[in-house]
Amino acid sequence: MPARAYLGLGSNLNSPPRQIKAALKAIAKLPSTQLIRCAPWYQSLAVGPGSQPRYINTVVAIDTLLKPRALLQALQQIERQQGRKRIVRWGPRTLDLDILLYANQSLNTRRLQIPHPRLGERNFVVLPLADIAPELSLPDSTPLARLLANCSPEGIVRLVTTASGGRTE
Ligand code: ADP
Ligand code: MG
Repeated sequence: MPARAYLGLGSNLNSPPRQIKAALKAIAKLPSTQLIRCAPWYQSLAVGPGSQPRYINTVVAIDTLLKPRALLQALQQIERQQGRKRIVRWGPRTLDLDILLYANQSLNTRRLQIPHPRLGERNFVVLPLADIAPELSLPDSTPLARLLANCSPEGIVRLVTTASGGRTE
């Protein structure tokens, strides 16, 4: 049985829309994995050190037979393929791929924590996640709707998809 997982995507370097599009393609091609849904895209102000370009963020739902650790490795390979260099923690990046949720599992190892430990604090995760899975609850039964209610709308705008497939604010 495949597991339903939710992934967070973010980019603030090297033409973020292009990075996000390429990442979506790569995720759709992961072995034993089906891309189920993609949330609208958001533009958000960077959190982290110094002044950084704004991010494009979105969330996808996948069904996958990959186990969490194999999924993380596959996502890190996509990050590397798209030129991600780990220089500063929370520094600017061409692509950040996070496992937000994996079925109803909780995992707490050094290399992988699920649910993603900062999921609830990040409006650029909670808003797109709620767009595609409003009824979701975390493994500890916290409803996503509660995180959404507590989430600040500051520093983030939803990008509107135009009929031609382009995106505007
Ligand atoms: P962040 O995503 O918090 O901005 P990074 O992308 O640089 O930071 O990730 C740092 C490390 O976080 C990765 O090497 C990975 O091992 C670890 N990590 C722990 N839990 C997760 C998760 N759920 N999804 C992705 N990475 C995770
Ligand atoms: Mg990450």
